[in-house]
Amino acid sequence: MTDYTTFRNSIRDFLAEALTPDLQRAGALTTSVFSDFDAALRWQKKLHGKGWVAPDWPEEYGGPGWDIQQRYIFQEECKLANAPSLVMMGIQMLGPMLMHYGTEQQKKHYLPRMLSGEDIWCQGYSEPGAGSDLASLKTSAVQDGDDYVVTGTKIWTSMAHHANRIFCLVRTDKTVKPQAGISFLLVDLDTPGITISPIVSLDGQVEQCQVFFDEVRVPVVNLVGNENDGWSVAKFLLEYERGGHNFTIDVKKQLRKIYRQAELAPWGASCRSEDRVFQHRLAEAEIDAMALEQTELRIKGTAEAGGNPGALSSLVKVVGTELGQRLNELSMDLVGPAAGPMCLEALDPTYSGDTAVPEHALTTMAEYINNRAATIYGGTAEIQRSIIAKKVLGL
Ligand SMILES: Cc1cc2nc3c(=O)[nH]c(=O)nc-3n(C[C@H](O)[C@H](O)[C@H](O)COP(=O)(O)OP(=O)(O)OC[C@H]3O[C@@H](n4cnc5c(N)ncnc54)[C@H](O)[C@@H]3O)c2cc1C
Repeated sequence: MTDYTTFRNSIRDFLAEALTPDLQRAGALTTSVFSDFDAALRWQKKLHGKGWVAPDWPEEYGGPGWDIQQRYIFQEECKLANAPSLVMMGIQMLGPMLMHYGTEQQKKHYLPRMLSGEDIWCQGYSEPGAGSDLASLKTSAVQDGDDYVVTGTKIWTSMAHHANRIFCLVRTDKTVKPQAGISFLLVDLDTPGITISPIVSLDGQVEQCQVFFDEVRVPVVNLVGNENDGWSVAKFLLEYERGGHNFTIDVKKQLRKIYRQAELAPWGASCRSEDRVFQHRLAEAEIDAMALEQTELRIKGTAEAGGNPGALSSLVKVVGTELGQRLNELSMDLVGPAAGPMCLEALDPTYSGDTAVPEHALTTMAEYINNRAATIYGGTAEIQRSIIAKKVLGL
Protein backbone atom coordinates (compact mmCIF):
# COMPACT_ATOMS: atom_id res chain seq x y z
CA MET A 1 0.00 0.00 0.00
CA THR A 2 1.26 3.49 -0.83
CA ASP A 3 2.48 5.53 2.11
CA TYR A 4 1.10 8.94 1.18
CA THR A 5 2.92 10.78 3.94
CA THR A 6 6.27 9.50 2.68
CA PHE A 7 5.22 10.36 -0.86
CA ARG A 8 4.22 13.90 0.14
CA ASN A 9 7.52 14.36 1.95
CA SER A 10 9.46 13.19 -1.10
CA ILE A 11 7.66 15.80 -3.22
CA ARG A 12 8.42 18.47 -0.62
CA ASP A 13 12.10 17.47 -0.65
CA PHE A 14 12.18 17.74 -4.42
CA LEU A 15 10.49 21.15 -4.36
CA ALA A 16 12.82 22.45 -1.66
CA GLU A 17 15.74 21.74 -3.96
CA ALA A 18 14.38 22.25 -7.49
CA LEU A 19 12.09 25.22 -6.95
CA THR A 20 14.67 27.98 -6.92
CA PRO A 21 13.70 31.44 -5.54
CA ASP A 22 13.31 32.93 -9.04
CA LEU A 23 10.91 30.15 -10.06
CA GLN A 24 9.03 30.50 -6.78
CA ARG A 25 8.76 34.24 -7.34
CA ALA A 26 7.26 33.60 -10.79
CA GLY A 27 4.73 31.24 -9.19
CA ALA A 28 3.84 33.74 -6.46
CA LEU A 29 3.32 36.52 -9.02
CA THR A 30 1.02 34.43 -11.23
CA THR A 31 -2.24 36.33 -11.60
CA SER A 32 -3.99 34.07 -14.12
CA VAL A 33 -3.91 30.54 -15.44
CA PHE A 34 -0.48 31.26 -16.92
CA SER A 35 2.81 32.03 -15.18
CA ASP A 36 5.70 33.95 -16.70
CA PHE A 37 6.41 31.93 -19.86
CA ASP A 38 10.20 31.54 -19.47
CA ALA A 39 9.84 30.45 -15.86
CA ALA A 40 7.11 27.95 -16.81
CA LEU A 41 9.34 26.43 -19.48
CA ARG A 42 12.32 26.20 -17.12
CA TRP A 43 10.11 24.50 -14.53
CA GLN A 44 8.77 22.09 -17.16
CA LYS A 45 12.30 21.03 -18.06
CA LYS A 46 13.06 20.28 -14.40
CA LEU A 47 9.88 18.23 -14.08
CA HIS A 48 10.67 16.47 -17.34
CA GLY A 49 14.00 15.36 -15.88
CA LYS A 50 11.99 13.50 -13.20
CA GLY A 51 9.25 12.26 -15.56
CA TRP A 52 6.66 14.38 -13.71
CA VAL A 53 5.31 16.75 -16.38
CA ALA A 54 2.03 14.90 -16.94
CA PRO A 55 0.91 13.20 -13.71
CA ASP A 56 -2.45 12.22 -15.26
CA TRP A 57 -1.01 10.45 -18.30
CA PRO A 58 -0.72 6.66 -18.43
CA GLU A 59 2.80 5.31 -17.92
CA GLU A 60 3.03 4.01 -21.50
CA TYR A 61 2.90 7.61 -22.73
CA GLY A 62 5.31 9.04 -20.15
CA GLY A 63 3.17 9.50 -17.03
CA PRO A 64 4.79 8.71 -13.65
CA GLY A 65 2.38 5.85 -12.80
CA TRP A 66 0.95 7.54 -9.72
CA ASP A 67 -2.50 6.81 -8.36
CA ILE A 68 -5.14 9.55 -8.01
CA GLN A 69 -4.14 10.47 -4.48
CA GLN A 70 -0.46 10.81 -5.41
CA ARG A 71 -1.29 13.02 -8.40
CA TYR A 72 -3.43 15.20 -6.25
CA ILE A 73 -0.74 15.49 -3.57
CA PHE A 74 1.85 16.37 -6.21
CA GLN A 75 -0.27 19.12 -7.75
CA GLU A 76 -1.26 20.47 -4.37
CA GLU A 77 2.33 20.62 -3.12
CA CYS A 78 3.53 22.31 -6.35
CA LYS A 79 0.78 24.92 -6.20
CA LEU A 80 1.14 25.69 -2.50
CA ALA A 81 4.93 25.94 -2.87
CA ASN A 82 4.37 28.53 -5.64
CA ALA A 83 5.72 26.47 -8.53
CA PRO A 84 5.02 28.17 -11.89
CA SER A 85 2.01 26.81 -13.81
CA LEU A 86 2.85 24.93 -17.00
CA VAL A 87 1.17 25.84 -20.30
CA MET A 88 -1.42 23.06 -20.24
CA MET A 89 -3.24 23.12 -23.60
CA GLY A 90 -1.01 20.32 -24.87
CA ILE A 91 -0.54 18.27 -21.71
CA GLN A 92 -4.02 18.59 -20.26
CA MET A 93 -6.22 18.80 -23.35
CA LEU A 94 -4.61 17.70 -26.60
CA GLY A 95 -2.50 14.87 -25.12
CA PRO A 96 -5.37 12.82 -23.63
CA MET A 97 -7.43 13.44 -26.77
CA LEU A 98 -4.62 12.19 -29.06
CA MET A 99 -4.24 9.07 -26.92
CA HIS A 100 -7.89 8.35 -27.76
CA TYR A 101 -8.30 9.61 -31.35
CA GLY A 102 -4.75 10.07 -32.71
CA THR A 103 -2.97 7.77 -35.15
CA GLU A 104 0.04 5.82 -33.86
CA GLN A 105 2.26 8.19 -35.80
CA GLN A 106 0.62 11.27 -34.26
CA LYS A 107 0.99 9.85 -30.75
CA LYS A 108 4.61 8.86 -31.31
CA HIS A 109 5.55 12.21 -32.76
CA TYR A 110 3.60 14.69 -30.64
CA LEU A 111 3.25 13.23 -27.15
CA PRO A 112 6.99 13.17 -26.22
CA ARG A 113 7.41 16.70 -27.57
CA MET A 114 4.58 17.93 -25.33
CA LEU A 115 6.31 16.46 -22.31
CA SER A 116 9.72 17.95 -23.11
CA GLY A 117 8.29 21.41 -23.85
CA GLU A 118 9.65 21.24 -27.39
CA ASP A 119 6.09 21.82 -28.56
CA ILE A 120 3.87 24.40 -26.92
CA TRP A 121 0.28 24.12 -28.12
CA CYS A 122 -2.51 26.63 -28.25
CA GLN A 123 -6.20 26.02 -28.85
CA GLY A 124 -7.86 27.37 -32.01
CA TYR A 125 -11.56 26.84 -31.37
CA SER A 126 -13.20 30.29 -30.97
CA GLU A 127 -13.74 32.74 -33.80
CA PRO A 128 -15.10 36.31 -33.84
CA GLY A 129 -18.54 34.93 -34.74
CA ALA A 130 -18.28 31.57 -32.99
CA GLY A 131 -17.81 31.34 -29.22
CA SER A 132 -20.67 29.74 -27.30
CA ASP A 133 -22.14 28.77 -30.64
CA LEU A 134 -18.91 27.07 -31.62
CA ALA A 135 -20.49 24.94 -34.33
CA SER A 136 -21.06 28.06 -36.43
CA LEU A 137 -17.30 28.41 -37.00
CA LYS A 138 -16.27 29.48 -40.51
CA THR A 139 -12.51 28.94 -40.85
CA SER A 140 -12.44 26.69 -43.89
CA ALA A 141 -10.18 23.83 -44.93
CA VAL A 142 -10.36 22.71 -48.54
CA GLN A 143 -8.42 19.64 -49.62
CA ASP A 144 -5.89 20.18 -52.41
CA GLY A 145 -3.74 17.10 -53.08
CA ASP A 146 -2.01 16.01 -49.86
CA ASP A 147 -2.84 19.27 -48.08
CA TYR A 148 -5.78 21.17 -46.68
CA VAL A 149 -5.78 24.87 -47.54
CA VAL A 150 -6.96 26.74 -44.44
CA THR A 151 -8.40 30.28 -44.50
CA GLY A 152 -10.07 32.22 -41.71
CA THR A 153 -9.35 33.48 -38.21
CA LYS A 154 -9.32 32.29 -34.59
CA ILE A 155 -9.63 34.63 -31.61
CA TRP A 156 -8.86 34.63 -27.86
CA THR A 157 -6.18 32.04 -28.60
CA SER A 158 -4.33 31.84 -25.30
CA MET A 159 -0.52 31.77 -25.52
CA ALA A 160 -0.46 31.79 -29.34
CA HIS A 161 2.38 34.32 -29.17
CA HIS A 162 4.52 31.76 -27.28
CA ALA A 163 3.27 28.55 -28.91
CA ASN A 164 4.74 26.80 -31.95
CA ARG A 165 1.64 24.72 -32.71
CA ILE A 166 -2.11 25.17 -32.72
CA PHE A 167 -4.94 22.62 -32.79
CA CYS A 168 -7.85 23.94 -34.80
CA LEU A 169 -11.44 23.24 -35.62
CA VAL A 170 -12.06 23.92 -39.29
CA ARG A 171 -15.03 23.68 -41.63
CA THR A 172 -14.61 20.94 -44.23
CA ASP A 173 -18.23 20.72 -45.36
CA LYS A 174 -20.60 23.69 -45.66
CA THR A 175 -23.52 21.74 -47.08
CA VAL A 176 -24.48 19.70 -44.00
CA LYS A 177 -25.75 20.74 -40.54
CA PRO A 178 -22.99 22.78 -38.80
CA GLN A 179 -21.73 20.07 -36.38
CA ALA A 180 -21.43 17.51 -39.18
CA GLY A 181 -19.02 19.55 -41.33
CA ILE A 182 -16.20 20.23 -38.86
CA SER A 183 -12.72 18.63 -38.75
CA PHE A 184 -9.85 18.75 -36.25
CA LEU A 185 -6.42 19.78 -37.54
CA LEU A 186 -2.94 20.04 -36.03
CA VAL A 187 -1.11 23.06 -37.45
CA ASP A 188 2.49 24.23 -37.24
CA LEU A 189 2.40 27.97 -36.44
CA ASP A 190 5.50 28.56 -38.59
CA THR A 191 3.56 27.66 -41.73
CA PRO A 192 3.49 30.51 -44.30
CA GLY A 193 0.18 32.44 -44.29
CA ILE A 194 -0.27 32.55 -40.48
CA THR A 195 -0.25 35.91 -38.67
CA ILE A 196 -0.48 36.17 -34.86
CA SER A 197 -1.80 39.40 -33.42
CA PRO A 198 -1.58 39.82 -29.59
CA ILE A 199 -4.55 41.25 -27.62
CA VAL A 200 -3.93 43.43 -24.51
CA SER A 201 -6.38 42.43 -21.76
CA LEU A 202 -8.12 44.62 -19.18
CA ASP A 203 -5.36 43.82 -16.67
CA GLY A 204 -2.73 45.20 -19.09
CA GLN A 205 -1.20 41.80 -19.86
CA VAL A 206 -1.01 39.91 -23.14
CA GLU A 207 -2.17 36.31 -22.90
CA GLN A 208 -4.62 36.01 -25.81
CA CYS A 209 -4.16 36.59 -29.52
CA GLN A 210 -6.05 36.64 -32.77
CA VAL A 211 -4.60 34.19 -35.31
CA PHE A 212 -5.18 34.76 -39.04
CA PHE A 213 -4.92 32.00 -41.67
CA ASP A 214 -4.44 33.05 -45.27
CA GLU A 215 -4.39 29.98 -47.54
CA VAL A 216 -2.27 28.02 -45.08
CA ARG A 217 -1.26 24.56 -46.34
CA VAL A 218 -1.67 21.85 -43.70
CA PRO A 219 -0.79 18.22 -44.55
CA VAL A 220 -3.81 15.89 -44.55
CA VAL A 221 -1.91 13.56 -42.18
CA ASN A 222 -2.42 16.28 -39.53
CA LEU A 223 -6.14 15.52 -39.41
CA VAL A 224 -7.21 13.96 -36.09
CA GLY A 225 -10.10 11.51 -36.32
CA ASN A 226 -12.09 11.33 -39.55
CA GLU A 227 -12.84 14.25 -41.82
CA ASN A 228 -16.10 15.90 -40.71
CA ASP A 229 -15.99 14.08 -37.35
CA GLY A 230 -14.17 16.95 -35.62
CA TRP A 231 -17.17 17.79 -33.44
CA SER A 232 -16.87 14.52 -31.47
CA VAL A 233 -13.11 15.06 -31.13
CA ALA A 234 -13.64 18.67 -30.02
CA LYS A 235 -16.21 17.72 -27.37
CA PHE A 236 -13.99 14.97 -25.96
CA LEU A 237 -11.17 17.49 -25.59
CA LEU A 238 -13.46 20.09 -24.00
CA GLU A 239 -14.39 17.69 -21.23
CA TYR A 240 -10.70 17.46 -20.35
CA GLU A 241 -10.40 21.26 -20.56
CA ARG A 242 -13.28 21.74 -18.12
CA GLY A 243 -12.71 18.74 -15.87
CA GLY A 244 -8.93 18.31 -16.09
CA HIS A 245 -8.23 21.30 -13.91
CA ASN A 246 -7.92 21.03 -10.12
CA PHE A 247 -10.01 24.00 -9.01
CA THR A 248 -9.77 22.94 -5.36
CA ILE A 249 -6.02 23.36 -5.34
CA ASP A 250 -6.32 26.89 -6.78
CA VAL A 251 -8.97 27.63 -4.17
CA LYS A 252 -6.72 26.38 -1.35
CA LYS A 253 -3.96 28.69 -2.54
CA GLN A 254 -6.40 31.62 -2.67
CA LEU A 255 -7.63 30.79 0.83
CA ARG A 256 -4.06 30.76 2.14
CA LYS A 257 -3.51 34.18 0.63
CA ILE A 258 -6.68 35.48 2.26
CA TYR A 259 -5.61 34.19 5.69
CA ARG A 260 -2.31 36.01 5.25
CA GLN A 261 -4.01 39.17 4.02
CA ALA A 262 -6.38 39.01 6.99
CA GLU A 263 -3.40 39.01 9.34
CA LEU A 264 -1.93 42.01 7.59
CA ALA A 265 -5.10 43.91 6.76
CA PRO A 266 -5.12 46.49 9.60
CA TRP A 267 -2.75 48.81 7.74
CA GLY A 268 -5.63 49.59 5.32
CA ALA A 269 -8.73 51.71 5.74
CA SER A 270 -10.56 49.01 7.67
CA CYS A 271 -9.89 45.55 8.99
CA ARG A 272 -12.50 43.29 7.47
CA SER A 273 -11.13 40.12 9.06
CA GLU A 274 -12.87 41.05 12.35
CA ASP A 275 -16.14 41.71 10.56
CA ARG A 276 -18.78 39.02 11.28
CA VAL A 277 -20.27 39.31 7.79
CA PHE A 278 -16.83 38.87 6.27
CA GLN A 279 -16.17 35.83 8.46
CA HIS A 280 -19.50 34.35 7.41
CA ARG A 281 -18.66 34.81 3.70
CA LEU A 282 -15.27 33.21 4.25
CA ALA A 283 -16.74 30.24 6.14
CA GLU A 284 -19.27 29.66 3.36
CA ALA A 285 -16.49 29.70 0.78
CA GLU A 286 -14.46 27.21 2.84
CA ILE A 287 -17.43 24.81 3.05
CA ASP A 288 -18.01 25.08 -0.71
CA ALA A 289 -14.30 24.39 -1.25
CA MET A 290 -14.59 21.13 0.72
CA ALA A 291 -17.62 20.01 -1.31
CA LEU A 292 -15.81 20.91 -4.53
CA GLU A 293 -12.80 18.83 -3.50
CA GLN A 294 -14.95 15.72 -3.02
CA THR A 295 -16.56 16.17 -6.46
CA GLU A 296 -13.19 16.66 -8.10
CA LEU A 297 -11.86 13.50 -6.49
CA ARG A 298 -14.95 11.64 -7.72
CA ILE A 299 -14.26 12.82 -11.28
CA LYS A 300 -10.68 11.68 -11.01
CA GLY A 301 -11.91 8.29 -9.80
CA THR A 302 -14.08 8.00 -12.93
CA ALA A 303 -11.14 8.89 -15.14
CA GLU A 304 -8.94 6.38 -13.32
CA ALA A 305 -11.47 3.65 -14.09
CA GLY A 306 -11.20 4.55 -17.79
CA GLY A 307 -14.27 6.80 -18.00
CA ASN A 308 -14.52 10.31 -19.42
CA PRO A 309 -15.56 12.98 -16.88
CA GLY A 310 -18.61 13.83 -19.03
CA ALA A 311 -21.01 16.55 -17.93
CA LEU A 312 -19.71 16.43 -14.34
CA SER A 313 -16.79 18.50 -15.60
CA SER A 314 -19.27 21.28 -16.46
CA LEU A 315 -20.54 21.20 -12.89
CA VAL A 316 -17.05 21.48 -11.45
CA LYS A 317 -16.19 24.27 -13.85
CA VAL A 318 -19.15 26.40 -12.76
CA VAL A 319 -18.63 25.82 -9.04
CA GLY A 320 -14.82 26.11 -9.17
CA THR A 321 -14.69 29.31 -11.21
CA GLU A 322 -17.51 31.07 -9.34
CA LEU A 323 -15.96 30.15 -6.00
CA GLY A 324 -12.62 31.51 -7.23
CA GLN A 325 -14.30 34.80 -8.10
CA ARG A 326 -15.93 35.01 -4.67
CA LEU A 327 -12.50 34.55 -3.10
CA ASN A 328 -11.10 37.31 -5.34
CA GLU A 329 -13.81 39.60 -3.98
CA LEU A 330 -12.95 38.69 -0.39
CA SER A 331 -9.30 39.49 -1.14
CA MET A 332 -10.23 42.85 -2.63
CA ASP A 333 -12.33 43.65 0.43
CA LEU A 334 -9.46 42.75 2.73
CA VAL A 335 -6.78 44.65 0.88
CA GLY A 336 -8.99 47.69 0.40
CA PRO A 337 -7.56 50.78 -1.32
CA ALA A 338 -4.09 49.22 -1.66
CA ALA A 339 -5.47 47.00 -4.42
CA GLY A 340 -6.13 50.15 -6.46
CA PRO A 341 -2.81 50.84 -8.17
CA MET A 342 -1.83 48.12 -10.64
CA CYS A 343 1.95 47.76 -10.72
CA LEU A 344 2.38 45.82 -13.93
CA GLU A 345 6.17 46.04 -13.94
CA ALA A 346 6.31 44.54 -10.43
CA LEU A 347 4.44 41.48 -11.67
CA ASP A 348 7.47 40.62 -13.81
CA PRO A 349 9.44 38.09 -11.70
CA THR A 350 12.74 39.73 -12.71
CA TYR A 351 11.67 43.19 -11.43
CA SER A 352 13.65 44.36 -8.43
CA GLY A 353 12.62 48.04 -8.06
CA ASP A 354 10.21 49.70 -5.63
CA THR A 355 6.44 49.28 -5.81
CA ALA A 356 3.58 51.53 -4.72
CA VAL A 357 1.73 48.54 -3.28
CA PRO A 358 2.71 46.32 -0.32
CA GLU A 359 3.82 42.80 -1.18
CA HIS A 360 0.66 41.08 0.10
CA ALA A 361 -1.54 43.27 -2.14
CA LEU A 362 0.64 43.15 -5.25
CA THR A 363 -1.36 40.60 -7.23
CA THR A 364 -4.86 41.27 -5.83
CA MET A 365 -6.25 43.64 -8.47
CA ALA A 366 -4.71 41.82 -11.46
CA GLU A 367 -6.03 38.48 -10.17
CA TYR A 368 -9.48 39.94 -9.59
CA ILE A 369 -9.67 41.38 -13.10
CA ASN A 370 -8.13 38.41 -14.85
CA ASN A 371 -10.34 35.90 -13.08
CA ARG A 372 -13.50 37.56 -14.40
CA ALA A 373 -12.64 35.61 -17.56
CA ALA A 374 -12.77 32.24 -15.78
CA THR A 375 -16.55 32.06 -16.19
CA ILE A 376 -16.14 32.81 -19.91
CA TYR A 377 -13.24 30.70 -21.22
CA GLY A 378 -13.64 26.96 -21.64
CA GLY A 379 -17.35 27.63 -22.20
CA THR A 380 -19.31 30.29 -20.30
CA ALA A 381 -21.11 29.61 -17.01
CA GLU A 382 -24.47 29.98 -18.79
CA ILE A 383 -23.52 27.33 -21.34
CA GLN A 384 -22.24 24.98 -18.60
CA ARG A 385 -25.54 25.39 -16.75
CA SER A 386 -27.43 24.40 -19.90
CA ILE A 387 -25.24 21.28 -20.23
CA ILE A 388 -25.87 20.40 -16.56
CA ALA A 389 -29.62 20.93 -17.04
CA LYS A 390 -29.69 18.59 -20.02
CA LYS A 391 -27.14 15.93 -19.20
CA VAL A 392 -27.03 15.79 -15.40
CA LEU A 393 -30.58 16.76 -14.45
CA GLY A 394 -32.20 15.37 -17.61
CA LEU A 395 -34.34 18.49 -18.11
C1 LIG B 1 -9.25 34.83 -21.11
C2 LIG B 1 -9.82 34.01 -22.23
C3 LIG B 1 -9.08 32.99 -22.79
C4 LIG B 1 -9.58 32.25 -23.85
N1 LIG B 1 -8.78 31.29 -24.44
C5 LIG B 1 -9.24 30.63 -25.53
C6 LIG B 1 -8.38 29.73 -26.23
O1 LIG B 1 -7.22 29.52 -25.87
N2 LIG B 1 -8.87 29.13 -27.34
C7 LIG B 1 -10.14 29.32 -27.79
O2 LIG B 1 -10.52 28.72 -28.77
N3 LIG B 1 -10.97 30.19 -27.16
C8 LIG B 1 -10.54 30.84 -26.05
N4 LIG B 1 -11.37 31.74 -25.40
C9 LIG B 1 -12.70 32.02 -25.96
C10 LIG B 1 -13.84 31.47 -25.12
O3 LIG B 1 -13.96 30.08 -25.28
C11 LIG B 1 -15.10 32.23 -25.57
O4 LIG B 1 -14.94 33.57 -25.18
C12 LIG B 1 -16.35 31.65 -24.95
O5 LIG B 1 -16.66 30.40 -25.50
C13 LIG B 1 -17.56 32.60 -25.13
O6 LIG B 1 -17.72 32.96 -26.44
P1 LIG B 1 -17.88 34.50 -26.88
O7 LIG B 1 -16.78 35.26 -26.23
O8 LIG B 1 -17.98 34.54 -28.36
O9 LIG B 1 -19.22 34.98 -26.20
P2 LIG B 1 -20.70 34.72 -26.75
O10 LIG B 1 -20.83 33.30 -27.16
O11 LIG B 1 -21.02 35.76 -27.76
O12 LIG B 1 -21.56 34.94 -25.44
C14 LIG B 1 -21.90 36.22 -24.95
C15 LIG B 1 -22.82 36.04 -23.75
O13 LIG B 1 -24.05 35.37 -24.14
C16 LIG B 1 -24.25 34.19 -23.39
N5 LIG B 1 -24.82 33.15 -24.23
C17 LIG B 1 -24.45 32.85 -25.51
N6 LIG B 1 -25.17 31.81 -25.98
C18 LIG B 1 -26.01 31.42 -24.96
C19 LIG B 1 -26.98 30.39 -24.82
N7 LIG B 1 -27.24 29.53 -25.80
N8 LIG B 1 -27.64 30.30 -23.64
C20 LIG B 1 -27.38 31.16 -22.62
N9 LIG B 1 -26.46 32.17 -22.70
C21 LIG B 1 -25.79 32.29 -23.86
C22 LIG B 1 -22.89 33.79 -22.91
O14 LIG B 1 -22.95 32.98 -21.74
C23 LIG B 1 -22.23 35.14 -22.66
O15 LIG B 1 -22.60 35.61 -21.39
C24 LIG B 1 -10.90 32.49 -24.34
C25 LIG B 1 -11.67 33.50 -23.74
C26 LIG B 1 -11.15 34.25 -22.71
C27 LIG B 1 -12.00 35.34 -22.12
